[in-house]
Formats: sequence, C-alpha cells, structure tokens
Amino acid sequence: MAGWVDIRRDQGKMVFFDMRDMSGKVQCVVLPANTEAIEIAKEIRPEWVLKITGKVNKRPEKNINKDQPNGDIELEILKIEVLNKAQTPPFDVRSDGHEIGEDMRLQYRYLDLRRPRMQKNLRKRGEMIQFIRDYLVNKENFVEIETPILTKTSPEGARDFLVPSRLNKGNFYALPQSPQQYKQMIMVAGFEKYFQIARCFRDEDPRADRAYGEFTQLDLEMSFVEQEDILSLVEKLFTEMIKKVFPEKKITQTPWPRIAHKETMEKYGSDKPDLRKNKEDKDELAFTWVIDFPLFTQQTKNDFYHGSGSAKFAPSHHMFTAPHPDDISLLDSGPTKVRGLQHDLALNGYEVGGGSIRIHDRKVQEKVFDLIGFSEEQKNTFKHMLEAFTFGTPPHGGIAPGIDRLLLAITGESSLRELMSFPKTGEGQDLMMNAPSEATPEQLKELGIKTEPRK
Ligand code: ASP
Repeated sequence: MAGWVDIRRDQGKMVFFDMRDMSGKVQCVVLPANTEAIEIAKEIRPEWVLKITGKVNKRPEKNINKDQPNGDIELEILKIEVLNKAQTPPFDVRSDGHEIGEDMRLQYRYLDLRRPRMQKNLRKRGEMIQFIRDYLVNKENFVEIETPILTKTSPEGARDFLVPSRLNKGNFYALPQSPQQYKQMIMVAGFEKYFQIARCFRDEDPRADRAYGEFTQLDLEMSFVEQEDILSLVEKLFTEMIKKVFPEKKITQTPWPRIAHKETMEKYGSDKPDLRKNKEDKDELAFTWVIDFPLFTQQTKNDFYHGSGSAKFAPSHHMFTAPHPDDISLLDSGPTKVRGLQHDLALNGYEVGGGSIRIHDRKVQEKVFDLIGFSEEQKNTFKHMLEAFTFGTPPHGGIAPGIDRLLLAITGESSLRELMSFPKTGEGQDLMMNAPSEATPEQLKELGIKTEPRK
C-alpha cells in the first residue's frame, strides 16, 4: 500500500499508525521483532508518504472497531519505505476544518483538501457530473460540445472579464458569461440536443450563493421542444441522479410543483421559495419550478445592458427568452404585460437553475433589443445571431442548472467554496496561487497596455 500517515501511536515496544489513501484508512502495527521497520516507524510523522508492505490480519476481538471501515483488520508491517517526509502541517487535516480561518485553508488548499469532508465533497461533485454525462449521452442522445473560453464582450447582463489580445492590439476577448449564444448557434447548426459542463465567468460581487468570478453549470439546449419537454427532462435526470449519488436524500413532492411567478411572490415573497415540509431535516429536498414570468422588468443601474435608447426594460431572464406566443402583439402596446417562456428551478430556497424557450425569429429578437434600448451599434454585437435566424433556425430552448449551487442545496454545506476545488476569496483572490498578480513590463508592452500606478 502507498499513502499518507494519518496518525501515529507509540505503545512501548510496538508502533501503531493509520495509513490513508484514496480508498480510506487502515490501522498498521509494527512489531518489535521487525527491527528495521520499527526504527523507521519511530521516526514517521503524520502526513509522511510511505510505501508499506504488510500482512492483513484479523484484529484480536477486543480491538475490533465496528464503527469504522476496516475496523476489523490491521496490517502487520513487513517493510516501510519513506517516499516523502512532511513538515508539521499548519492545521489539522483530520478535523472538519470549520474551526480555522478560511484564508489559511485557502492558502494551503492542497492540505485542506486532504480532510475527509473535502474529499467527500469533491468526490460527490465528480460522481454527480459523471452521472449527468452518462444519463444525457447514453439515455437521452445528447452530444457534449465544448465552446470557446476566449469570446467576445457583449452587453448580456453581467460585467465581463476582458482578456487583451496580442495579435490584435487594442482589442479584447471576453470570458463567456455563459455559452448562451454558442449553444443557440449549435441548435442552428442542427445538433438538436447539446450539453456541456460549462464554466461561466462574471465579474460580479460575491454573495452567499455566488462565489467570485466563475462557476460551473450544466448547460443544455434542445431543438423542436416545448417548455414541458425541458422541465420533464431535468426532473427525470435529477431525480435519478439523487437516487444514485445521494441515496439518503428524500424529495418532498413528485412531480415537482410548478408555481407561477406572481403566485410565489405573493405567497412566499420569493422567486425561489423553500417548500420543505421540515426545514430541520437535512435530507429533505424540495424542488419547485417557477414559471409564467413577465418577459421584462424595469432596468436598473446594476444591469449591464447599457441600453442607450429611451425605453429601458431589462429581460427577467435574458434577452434571448421568447415571449409567450399569445402576447407578441403586446410587445408594442404593453411590454410589461408580456409573459416570457422562462422557467426557473428552486431547491430548498436556492435558485439552482434557469432557462427558457428562445426567440428564433429575427424580427422578434430585434424588437426585444429595441425594448432594452440597444443602439444600432449594440445590436450589431449580436449580428451573428440575427443573421443566423435567417438561415433556417429550429425552435429551441434549454436550461442551465448551476452545479455548485445544486450541490450546496443538496448537501446543505455552509458555503459554495466548500464544494469547489480552488475557490477565490470574497476579494477575488486565489490565496494559494497568489492571483491576480502583476504582469511584467515586457508582457504589458507586447499587449500595448499601460497601467496606472496603484493608489
Ligand atoms: N444562459 C443562461 C444562464 O446562464 C441559462 C439558459 O438560459 O440556459 O443563466
């Protein structure tokens, strides 16, 4: 076995220690007769990396620990090889970690991730993603398609991260706020069922349910569908996923209730109601669909649509959401009365996903741009979409559940950062890598960028 020393106990002539690897822990015993091994065993400390050879013995009856995996056996050490020594870690990696400051945990994240709680969280995350992939590809005929990370800035709703271009000096890429435009183009391209475990980047202030900078979503899109098809697919997918990956959890109500936006606001004062029957029960999951949103709300200073015209409506969801077909004429006479074909998914009081049926008609899309107040120039940043809609675009729609948020709601963890490998702090820093950092004068010169001295 190869792994880490978890804990060591000297008991007179014998040495006991626990070895830990990705599969769990096992107790090891070094007998005094093995003089070579006992000498090394007296030296070893927690977190040293060893390769050991031993014989699996049943523990004497009185030493059996029924509550622990491998509690009934021990390894009688024949040989120890030290692969790497460890200095004393800055904190205990066997505790659950809540007792120490988060900055310290993030600075030594590679140690922090050794703790069983973090191992479990990241492994569950991996299992969940694996299940989703398998289900969508093998049961539902979806194709996984990657879309660019270097893309274009457009007034899509949030603040963009910009990346300077060396080959096109003075120009910038933007990191995608979501693959929204690309996935719609994938529908125009005829793939019909697309998904991606996508990274999204938004330069927004962090909140309790929003980590800084980036997050992951299950981005999916389908052609020739109605809202019902999207809701039922997601409901089946997540119900099966929870059965398999989180078998201890119980879903409060199936089929998942559907509430009109107006009703949830009136009844619960929230667009992501918490419909658990017993909020103390950590294994209860109450999914709820919220539908029948208005297409528009009033635009605020915090929206990044930069509408320059006089009419300043902001889309409730985003600017590609289709109006209810019966309400098209209201786009002229009463835009705020238009219903949108948007659907949000709430779980235990968190918004865990949103999506919609999309506009696939150029005229309707232009009309919505006008209502947001886009100038011709701003509309032009979406020229490719308007053009694509004139080349045979299927009706389409989709959704994008957030992987981090979904895990937060399911596990009841204290923060999104407990479910991410290397998250940023609230101030947008990666304390382990020490990012962001200054660029060298050579790098800046190559990019044609001058920076102002920091105040
Ligand atoms: N792109 C949307 C978002 O990131 C989701 C969607 O409409 O599919 O919120």
